[in-house]
Amino acid sequence: MSVKLYDTFSRSIKELSKPNGRPFYYYCCGPTVYGPAHIGNFRTFLIQDVLSRVLELAGYEVKHVRNITDVDDKTIARSQEKNQALADFTQEWIEKFHSDCHALNMKPPSHEPKALDYISEQIDLIEALIKKEHAYVGKDGSVYFRVQSCNAYGKLNRINQSELKTQASNSAGQANLADEYDRESISDFALWKARKPEDGSNYWNSPWGEGRPGWHLECSAMIHSSFHGETIDLHGGGIDLCFPHHENEIAQSECAYSTPLCTHWFHSAHLKVEGEKMSKSLGNLFTLKDIQEKGISPMALRYTLISSSYRQPLNFTFEGLVASQTALTKIERFIEALLQKINLDSGNFNKRFIKPNTLNHFGLLEKAWDALCNNLNTAACLGNIFGLIGSNPTSKLSDAEIEDLLKSIGSLLYALGIQVFNDQTKALSAPQSVIELAKQRWDAKQNKDYAKADALRVEIQAEGWDIKDTPTHFELFPL
Ligand code: AMP
Ligand code: ZN
Repeated sequence: MSVKLYDTFSRSIKELSKPNGRPFYYYCCGPTVYGPAHIGNFRTFLIQDVLSRVLELAGYEVKHVRNITDVDDKTIARSQEKNQALADFTQEWIEKFHSDCHALNMKPPSHEPKALDYISEQIDLIEALIKKEHAYVGKDGSVYFRVQSCNAYGKLNRINQSELKTQASNSAGQANLADEYDRESISDFALWKARKPEDGSNYWNSPWGEGRPGWHLECSAMIHSSFHGETIDLHGGGIDLCFPHHENEIAQSECAYSTPLCTHWFHSAHLKVEGEKMSKSLGNLFTLKDIQEKGISPMALRYTLISSSYRQPLNFTFEGLVASQTALTKIERFIEALLQKINLDSGNFNKRFIKPNTLNHFGLLEKAWDALCNNLNTAACLGNIFGLIGSNPTSKLSDAEIEDLLKSIGSLLYALGIQVFNDQTKALSAPQSVIELAKQRWDAKQNKDYAKADALRVEIQAEGWDIKDTPTHFELFPL
């Protein structure tokens, strides 16, 4: 089975080829660990996780490397503020990140290199670039990449070199006020930053003096080391990384090693909250903890973040989260009905049917699987699953067909990383007083006393809960 994915470089959907004799090399730029990852970060990491699962199911042997950015302006500044050693400070955030990943059912990558452990590799890379005259040392001992020396610079973003302003020919005729003022050109970027007092003890010795690597460098060095200097098959990141970060990665790697960095580029669109860009000042920068405190399960968040097209910006809303919780419940009910038909209970499902096994066919859900293999169309995949649920097929199927259907659903849920029937799926339960109000409202509705039912709904909402009816009961969701 082959998997097709949009490639930012060629601007087209291309098949991901299965390499001969080695795993599929897949690298993603990882988190910067100076605080908790937010739901926007997780949109990107989750879609990367789904792709890795789809590849696995399609028979690819995937080597997935995702780095940790622990040496940069922000990690250094925050560790200094906290008076903590950089490694101790970042370790706390790495652990928090891992625990969020676990709650969101993300598979750990095969390898997770930290920039801090690759300082000497980064210095070697700079040396190679200086030797080939792709980099130069500034007056203060900082080292810059000479963009004009790299003919291919701009190829990922289709930016012409002449569009990149030079310091000497600033079109406005003004002086360049960038702090790195000894760059030959304004588009040159730092590979090495000379030691500054505010870096505290975070500096390393190099042939150009004390300092630290620039941020773009780490991925080039870690990719080279993790994938044995070979061209990788896929490189992922949020769309904001496309320029300049990925352009700079290409320039550094290809100029130093003279081999293509990567054959396929995978960028996911950003998440906005209620139509606005996420930011601390707007107070809409949410973490998994914030979502859980509102009583929403990690699985409902996962579902929300992966269920729409990864190439379209996602407008995150709390209504959407509640709808995801309902969707998960619907899937669980459908599975329960299937299990009941063959005398199994929900406890059997995860053990018996959620498996990373390679299925040759997906039967009634063939189109759902095809959608995942065709540019990771998670929305169409879920649409197919709900189409089947809506057609109410349980009574029409033989036991063997039900068993087959459970296997297909199990594999699809594995590909999507959606867990059912466990603690990560359940929303927090409402307090007993709210449940009582909900019961009274249910009774009022059964007695067709709609005015009373509406009044009780208002009371329930005043307690911070919303109520939704199902054919046989009601469900409560935190507002
Ligand atoms: P960072 O921790 O800032 O280095 O980012 C980690 C990953 O999250 C990168 O791939 C970013 O492109 C991605 N990212 C950052 N903000 C968002 C957002 N609002 N929506 C989706 N992805 C994001
Ligand atoms: Zn990177």
